[in-house]
Amino acid sequence: MPRTENTKGKGKIFWRCTVCNDIHFGMAGPEICPTCLEKNAYVEIDESEAAKFTGL
Ligand SMILES: [Zn+2]
Repeated sequence: MPRTENTKGKGKIFWRCTVCNDIHFGMAGPEICPTCLEKNAYVEIDESEAAKFTGL
């Protein structure tokens, strides 16, 4: 799956907390989830997966 088309978020990617499914968009996932306070729970996901969780 090529991901070179969408450059609007240049360098930024989506992250999902594996514990509470909180979505974060940025250069790196939060060290500690602001929602469930789990450490290092974020995994990189693609935009279509993020859309599923955010309902966009
Ligand atoms: Zn969380």
